[in-house]
Amino acid sequence: MDLQKQKAVLAGILLADLVLGIGILLVVSGVLGPGGFRQTSAGQEYMEPKVAALTFDDGPNHEYTELLLQGLRERDVKASFFLIGESIEGNEALIKQMVEDGHLIGVHCMQHTELTKEKVDHAIAQLESAKDRIEEVTGNQVEYLRPPFGSWNEVLDETVRAELDMEPVFWDVDSRDWELRSTSAIVKKVVRDTENGDIILMHDEFGTSVDAAFQIIDNLMAKGYTFVTVNELMVD
Ligand SMILES: [Zn+2]
Repeated sequence: MDLQKQKAVLAGILLADLVLGIGILLVVSGVLGPGGFRQTSAGQEYMEPKVAALTFDDGPNHEYTELLLQGLRERDVKASFFLIGESIEGNEALIKQMVEDGHLIGVHCMQHTELTKEKVDHAIAQLESAKDRIEEVTGNQVEYLRPPFGSWNEVLDETVRAELDMEPVFWDVDSRDWELRSTSAIVKKVVRDTENGDIILMHDEFGTSVDAAFQIIDNLMAKGYTFVTVNELMVD
């Protein structure tokens, strides 16, 4: 092989290395998206990028919310919190931390009553009062609410949208965490039931729920999921 040919072959090898190198870098740095390639025993497998939203009702909880926020921060996961108005006082620092960490904050209720069983003006007054308390702490407008027990009707829907400029958020996957109280059972149910685009309902008032949330995140992330706040999944 003459010198020219040797140079050409060498340049070819270097170029191939460079292309391979950039490819690996892109995958490692996540440029190919949250899906990307995953090494399996059978070789490389492409995973479709998938999204889900973790939502936590009934907080803030002075015992568990801080722990949950820490774990979410470590995993760089954003979640959505629907708060009880009456639990806000004394937990302002937790709520400010939620904002700082990029989580979405919505209204759950004032006293966890079933809104459809109340007079509309009373239900609206309760939601407004919880909304005001949150806004006083965060300085941001609250745009979403999660009705307790998912109990909702057309009149409430129209009135809340018109008078409070809020939108209800329901869920696709019910963890039943308040009932199961077993980390492994909650993880199993949620991981089995979650599909692309789903909203997952949990409660940050039990240690088992917080532990389960971390395992759910780790498990679903390994399946190509990224976690977003509910506003990113709402389409209307
Ligand atoms: Zn609740």
